[in-house]
Amino acid sequence: MSRVRCLYCGRTIADDQARCPHCDAPSHYQQRGFRFGARQRFVMFFVVLAVVVLGLALWLPR
Ligand SMILES: [Zn+2]
Repeated sequence: MSRVRCLYCGRTIADDQARCPHCDAPSHYQQRGFRFGARQRFVMFFVVLAVVVLGLALWLPR
């Protein structure tokens, strides 16, 4: 856990907090973690797609 600066009031808050305790603004740094999770899902989707395409290439008659 590290400490970051709130974008709205400029005070220092913990980066794992969903909201700033000083001004109640939603934390920008919490959303960055959400986007990282979305990127992991995208990579998983791409891997599954590659396996399906590879399977089709091997299954189709040459
Ligand atoms: Zn704040």
